[in-house]
Amino acid sequence: MNQYYQKDLYSILGIEPDADEAQIKAAYRKQARKWHPDVNDNSSESIIRFKEITEAYEVLTDEHKKNQYDILKGFTFKSSSSSYASRTQAKKAYSGTYSTGAKTESKTETAKDTSHHDKSSFSQVFENILDGLFTGDNTNTKKQKTEKKKLKPQNGRDINLNVTIKISEAISGTNRTVNVLHSERCPKCEGRRFINGAKCPLCKGSGEISIHKKLSVKIPAGIKKGAKIRIASEGNKGYNGGKNGDLYLFIDIEESSFFKYEGNNVLCEIPITPFEAVLGANIDVPTLSGKVSMKIPPYTTTGQKFRLSEQGTSNSKSKKGDQIVTVKIVVPKEMTQKEIELYEQLKLISKHNLREDLLNDK
Ligand SMILES: [Zn+2]
Repeated sequence: MNQYYQKDLYSILGIEPDADEAQIKAAYRKQARKWHPDVNDNSSESIIRFKEITEAYEVLTDEHKKNQYDILKGFTFKSSSSSYASRTQAKKAYSGTYSTGAKTESKTETAKDTSHHDKSSFSQVFENILDGLFTGDNTNTKKQKTEKKKLKPQNGRDINLNVTIKISEAISGTNRTVNVLHSERCPKCEGRRFINGAKCPLCKGSGEISIHKKLSVKIPAGIKKGAKIRIASEGNKGYNGGKNGDLYLFIDIEESSFFKYEGNNVLCEIPITPFEAVLGANIDVPTLSGKVSMKIPPYTTTGQKFRLSEQGTSNSKSKKGDQIVTVKIVVPKEMTQKEIELYEQLKLISKHNLREDLLNDK
């Protein structure tokens, strides 16, 4: 299940190897208060640290396990130590045969042999001792082996999220709060799914729980439709030293019936009345940064394009684009009698026939 024999359990608790039981307990209480997941928003670090200090505590307050550990780690014993007797015993056992505990008797080895001994199987002995400690089941070797496999570093999965923003937000940038659904290893069964043969009540046997996390994300100005924003380490949790996954935001930009995009330029079509077209006018044109007054010169026709300089989009690297306004002469749907009369007068005095030359090419 774990490899704590490879770790410095004393350092984990912040104590010296000659600490007595009272010091170990005091150190554990201090560390536990600091790292208890309940006071750390169940952060992955706190869960790992809390587990680590608890396991260190469990080993170091179990005389037999502690002796095994001290022997393996080669900690020297001080005669003033409170557990001098037991440690001396352990030391004797070590210098004679490696048989200080019932669990290891089957693998009795001489100290001489140990120096030449295959390190992995020697380690295995101790690992098995520790495994039993923490799983609460030290008889099921098979199970321990399975769990040992699980302890390989496991990277968290990435999370993909679609975010739709308005055009104005895409242009000027925005902060968006996104709700991310994380899958995390169930803290109760630690992903084992079963506790003492019964389905874990917290995760219902799935080994994972879902956690909503709200994140405030900065969406940079000038972002394009389909852009991908990576937020490092905000994906699903990694375990056993594995990396957290990343969060990817896929940006979609709401369709607009008014603005279209062409590179960094913004395109739009603006209706004008016939008399505005003839006489010219100053009209208000919506832009991405608000309304802007635009001058329509006399004799403007449908399809004529005007440029509003630097009213387009940009990103950090490129120059800001323009807004290209195409005008379209539109006849109002309803006009007053007076307006109609004026058009009738206009018709009477107008000499223009725009269709005269339609069939006379060149
Ligand atoms: Zn569970």
